[in-house]
Amino acid sequence: MTKLIKVMKGTKDILPQEVEMWHKLEKNALEIFTRYGYKEIRTPIFEVTELFARGVGDTTDIVNKEMYTFEKSDRSITLRPENTAGVVRSFIENGMARLSAPVKLWYKGPMFRYERPQAGRQRQFHQVGVEMFGIKDAAADAEVIMLAVDYLKSLGLEDLEVEINSLGCPKCREEYKNKIKEVLKPEFENLCEDCQNRYEKNPLRLLDCKVDTCKEIFAKPQIQKVIQSDFICEECASHYKDLKTYLDRLNIKYVENKLLVRGLDYYNRTVFEIKSNNLGSQNAVCGGGRYDSLVKNLGGEDTPAVGWAMGMERLNSLLPVIEPEKLDAYIVSNSPADAFELAQDLRSNGVKVEFDLANKKFTKQLEKASKVAKFALILGEDEIKAGKVSVKNLSTSQQVTVERNEVINKIME
Ligand code: ATP
Ligand code: MG
Repeated sequence: MTKLIKVMKGTKDILPQEVEMWHKLEKNALEIFTRYGYKEIRTPIFEVTELFARGVGDTTDIVNKEMYTFEKSDRSITLRPENTAGVVRSFIENGMARLSAPVKLWYKGPMFRYERPQAGRQRQFHQVGVEMFGIKDAAADAEVIMLAVDYLKSLGLEDLEVEINSLGCPKCREEYKNKIKEVLKPEFENLCEDCQNRYEKNPLRLLDCKVDTCKEIFAKPQIQKVIQSDFICEECASHYKDLKTYLDRLNIKYVENKLLVRGLDYYNRTVFEIKSNNLGSQNAVCGGGRYDSLVKNLGGEDTPAVGWAMGMERLNSLLPVIEPEKLDAYIVSNSPADAFELAQDLRSNGVKVEFDLANKKFTKQLEKASKVAKFALILGEDEIKAGKVSVKNLSTSQQVTVERNEVINKIME
């Protein structure tokens, strides 16, 4: 027997009965983001590995464990695990720093991470995201958060929680990192393996750990004291205060969470996540923040930036299933040529219509029509001879016979 080939672990087909929801996610993105002045950008799905090593950061799980990397013609290539690095590369390469600020870009598409597949976690998943370049002011941070909230609202998702935090700048963060290391030192042996590995290279990431025993350690009073302390410098504090003022003015409800540090290396000052209580342990639908040093780190001019990404599968799982839309009409006839002609006539006028291509009996065709369409267009021998069509409304069962050229008015009534 021939061996069946199956979809790879951690990847999924998006089937026709699910695709309408995806269309909605994409359509609303275009609509809402355009309202805020964003233009779509489409960057390649693979890039040189170095882009992610430098752009995402080589202390992150993404770069260390999760990348799909392969060699081709002596070059190391990686399937994008996220799209900020790719958008920044394109921003620099295409001289977008010369454009008047802000430059606002959005994207959608598949991302690839070699993670353990589970609910809310796939190896190929999709993100929709935005990046705003050129604005230092906290108004930019507030606007991207507002945009995320607006987009979620357009999908009917209103009861989500916005969490914010400030990571300070590389200067003030250094001291905080040392304090965290100091207070965690006596607990080092009790931390999980990942945390032990991150302890030197990226101590802030420890706070993000999902392992229960680590969470218990971070809850200890002497450690909480350090975590909850205000470490950020005056300038960073004023930026953070401005952000909160904007959010208050805009009526965006938020919770401050000092444990929110985000997985990526490049963030400074504002970080935020939007979470749902209906998603189990993979509860973040949106993650983002400010990354003022990334453009320069990747060889561009010094350009402040802020953005976010949302997981589209997670959005999908929060939304009710959309019933597939019915056809406007289904033509019932034993003369395929006449049916075909009528179908083409209607299709060229924008009507969604099908006819029987399988040589089914008249009654079977009628049965099918009532399942898939709003109207049955009956083209029997009599109708064909008279140049007419019987139009049956399948929800009321009312039927009238009209001239061929009146069919469209009847359907669209
Ligand atoms: P998580 O803590 O869930 O691993 P992350 O910090 O790795 O998230 P980001 O890189 O910020 O995630 O990506 C933004 C969003 O993309 C997440 O909030 C989530 O909705 C989605 N996402 C991330 N990884 C996956 C995945 N493997 N499968 C499905 N969605 C994902
Ligand atoms: Mg992750």
